[in-house]
Order: sequence, then structure tokens, then C-alpha cells
Amino acid sequence: MTTTTREIHLASRPQGWPTPENFRTVTTELPDPGPGEVLVRNTVLSVDPYMRGRMNDTKSYVPPFALDAPLEGGAVGEVVASGDDSLSPGDTVLHQAGWREHALLPAAQVRKVDAGQVPASAYLGVLGMPGLTAYVGLTRIAPVQEGDTVFVSGAAGAVGSIVGQVARELGASTVIGSAGSAEKVRWLTEDLGFDAAFDYHDGPVARQLADRLDGRGVDVYFDNVGGDHLEAAIGRMADFGRIALCGAIASYNDEQPAPGPRNLMLLVSRRVTMRGFIVTDHGDAAREFYERAGAWVAEGRVRYRETFTEGLDSTVAAFLGLHRGDNIGKMLVRL
Ligand code: NDP
Repeated sequence: MTTTTREIHLASRPQGWPTPENFRTVTTELPDPGPGEVLVRNTVLSVDPYMRGRMNDTKSYVPPFALDAPLEGGAVGEVVASGDDSLSPGDTVLHQAGWREHALLPAAQVRKVDAGQVPASAYLGVLGMPGLTAYVGLTRIAPVQEGDTVFVSGAAGAVGSIVGQVARELGASTVIGSAGSAEKVRWLTEDLGFDAAFDYHDGPVARQLADRLDGRGVDVYFDNVGGDHLEAAIGRMADFGRIALCGAIASYNDEQPAPGPRNLMLLVSRRVTMRGFIVTDHGDAAREFYERAGAWVAEGRVRYRETFTEGLDSTVAAFLGLHRGDNIGKMLVRL
């Protein structure tokens, strides 16, 4: 028996903004799982900003995506056939063979998850890589201390929305976020408990941040955006403040590198620490995070939201939408 299924390949490497022509949907046949393998019907696919970097043919912390091969990424699905004793049909699993309707994988490359308490999609967001990224940044890279003022950019996204709430759980007294629309700002302040938030389209980030700080300095800045957000945050850091460099989505589709912050000397005079990180280096934090985050979510202390597109054919649009701010919370594709 074989399973007829579809997968999305990278057809060419984007220059600047990706276009639908950079991708190709391919119909393929998968054999039944052999010994030690499982066949998974994917139910939810993740699209993430880091995938843009993997579309370039450059050396980085993960190898580039291959051309004319299925793209990869986080996904959850249901085991439909198993050649391994550890997994049975009906099990819900998390794995990295996304961008496709079915995945044939070694059982060792899938993790069984409990979809009883939370929907399986949560393991792609709040209880998955983005949630862990928020936690690592706030505990290992730019540790939050009791009473801190925390600023996060990209605050209504998968990572940023968790950053603001986890910062509060870790003792922050003031949490400020920036995001790209009035609706996102309302969500942050009315539903997630941010003390203040602003739409960065409404005026210079430096001025809007200064207005919300009301004379305070930023003790922790969690940077998802780079560019003018980073420069604005540096301009408002408190003495001995900490900056976690998580991402710089404002520049991911730039063909020429944007100029860096013009005020780096302030890091010296204010004795600020600025450190970049990659979540996959911090597997040691994962168990601690899953225990704490599981409880925070169950108690409603950390809330999350998901934006779904429907069907494999919407995956490219979902990915492109991330770069236009189409998502509130985690961007996902439901199959
Ligand atoms: P998000 O869910 O935050 O989605 C991306 C968001 O970026 C959009 O919703 C959009 O929201 C915002 N955005 C897009 N373009 C711009 C721009 N020019 N200026 C400001 N904001 C912009 O994605 P994630 O939460 O998955 O990722 C957030 C960041 O964290 C990314 O930089 C990503 O690369 C990084 N990351 C880093 C990891 C690590 O290990 N270091 C791991 C995971 C993520 P808006 O409407 O607000 O503009």
C-alpha cells in the first residue's frame, strides 16, 4: 500500500521578499512505514520567521533548505500507521516534517504529546518552541528580576505575547509592548495584562516608548524586531539593563543590510549587557519550562491566541503573512 499525499518544495531561493513562485506543491506517494518508522497525517503546520533565513544559501546555525525537496518545520499530527512499538495509530505527535500533508519518519524523530488538556497546536506555540524561546530569553539571556520594567517588540506574535506574560510571572512590575496594529495593542493591554503598548506605525518608536516609560528606564528589552526598535530601546535602557537579541524580523527580507543602532556607546556608559541566543542551544531549560508553562496555561495565568489559515495550499500565504503582521499570536496552518 502507498499513501498519495502532497508536500511543498522550495523551487528557488527568494531574493528579498519571497513570492509564491519560489515554492512548488508536489504530489508524491509514501510507502507504508518500515520497522522503526511511523506514518503521520499532519493536522497543523507551523510557519516561523526563522524559515526565511533557511531559504538563503548561507552558512548559519541550521543548514539551508534544499531546493526541490520538501520544506521542513514544526508540525503536529496523528499517527496513521506505525512500525514501532512506542507509537500506535491515533497517537498525537510533534515533529519537524512540516509543509506536507503526511510525513513518514523514524519514530525517534517524533514526540508523543498529550492533546487532552490543550489542543495539539499549543505544542507549536505557547508550549513549544516559541514559548521556550520567551522563557530562555527571560531566564537565561536577559534575566528578569523582581520589580523590573520589561519592553518587548513583536509583542503580539508567538514569542512576544508569551514574553510579556512570563515576564510578569517572573516578577516584572511593568511590561510594555510594541506591535503593528490597534487591534494587537488592545489585545495586549486588555486581555494579556500588558501595562502599556503602542502601534509602531503611529510615530517614532523612540518617542512612543519614552511616552510609555514615563521617566523609568528599561531593565530588560526582548528584541524580536531589530532596526529602529533596537535603537529606541538602547536609548532608554536603565543602568545594568539587559537586552536579549532574539530576532530582527524587520530586516529578514532586506536585500542590503540596514545600518545598525547609532547609539551603541550607551551600552558602555549604562553598563548594559546585550546577548543573542538560539533556543535550540537551551534544551536544558525545556523540562523546567514545560512544567512551569503547563501550570501557567492551565491556571489561565498565561493566555495564548492562534491565527489559522486553512489547507496546505494556504501555507505559503501564511508564511508570507508573518512578514506582514497578519497573525495575532501564533501563525498556523490547519490541514
Ligand atoms: P511572530 O508570531 O512574532 O510573527 C512575526 C511578527 O513580526 C508579525 O506578526 C509582525 O507583527 C512582526 N513584524 C513583521 N515585520 C515587522 C517589521 N518590519 N517591524 C516590526 N515588526 C514586524 O513570530 P515569532 O514569534 O515566531 O518570532 C518572533 C521573533 O523571534 C522573530 O524575529 C524570530 O526570528 C525570532 N525567533 C528567534 C528564536 C531564537 O532562537 N533566537 C526562536 C524563535 C523565534 P506586527 O503586526 O507587530 O508587525
